[in-house]
Amino acid sequence: MNFHVLTLFPEMVMQGLHTSILGRAVSKGYMTIEAVNIRDYTNDKHGKVDDYTYGGGAGMLMQAQPVYDAYWAVADAIANRKAAEAEPAAAESAEGIQERNGGSGCARDRQPRVVYLTPQGRTFHQKMAEEFAKEEDLIFLCGHYEGIDERVIEEIVTDPVSIGDYVLTGGELPAMVMIDAIARLVPGVLHNDESAVSESFYHDLLEYPQYSRPEIWHEKKVPEILLSGNHAKVDEWRLAQSIERTKKLRPDLYEKWKQRSESECRQDKKKS
Ligand code: SAM
Repeated sequence: MNFHVLTLFPEMVMQGLHTSILGRAVSKGYMTIEAVNIRDYTNDKHGKVDDYTYGGGAGMLMQAQPVYDAYWAVADAIANRKAAEAEPAAAESAEGIQERNGGSGCARDRQPRVVYLTPQGRTFHQKMAEEFAKEEDLIFLCGHYEGIDERVIEEIVTDPVSIGDYVLTGGELPAMVMIDAIARLVPGVLHNDESAVSESFYHDLLEYPQYSRPEIWHEKKVPEILLSGNHAKVDEWRLAQSIERTKKLRPDLYEKWKQRSESECRQDKKKS
């Protein structure tokens, strides 16, 4: 999987995402992460990428032109790579690719999804991460200052996404949050493929409590069942703990899980 981040602060994204598990996943070739500096694409001779907003108001707005050109540089590079994978000869002609895409204006259906990080988008959640993890390429557009000129958003963005109902200074941290959540679902990124499956939200339930050595700490003993070696009983205990914990901490999620389980139960009964 390939993550492409359009940003004014590429070093922030690269430093943040090339450490620990994601850093290892990149070096092993399970995924790539590139940060593209929008400023490199401005036509302004002083390197300016922002300006005042029409109609007045505080703050500066990122202009359409550098964002649009940075986007097309990435989209063309992806199209070139795909063409090279599909038919090596066609890759030599950038014009050919533009033609196949139907020109820059009509290419959206063939272009990768573009996530615009914005407090106005749909709130990010685990199911969205699972859906995005199926893509081969994802482009993230990070705003700064007061945001981005609406016209370029209309032309290139497919998915406006928020990470919560609060306002941050830029889209870099939200992009990193999303990439982290999506990347750990990419096969091979986590050492143990099981871990994503048993974690919180996977089945609309929070994860059960977990313990490591020593067996007794601060006079608190690890639950006996976990030391029993009886895997079926351990699974049963963990599910019960997950249900109890979700009911207590996230009643909204618990209701969702209950309704889903009841409907699955009804369907099973109908079949038998
Ligand atoms: N004026 C914008 C508004 O009221 O909707 C907020 C702009 S914010 C100061 C600057 C940038 O930070 C946004 O363009 C967006 O990329 C990012 N951002 C801020 N809060 C965010 C959130 N909750 N989720 C995702 N991105 C966010």
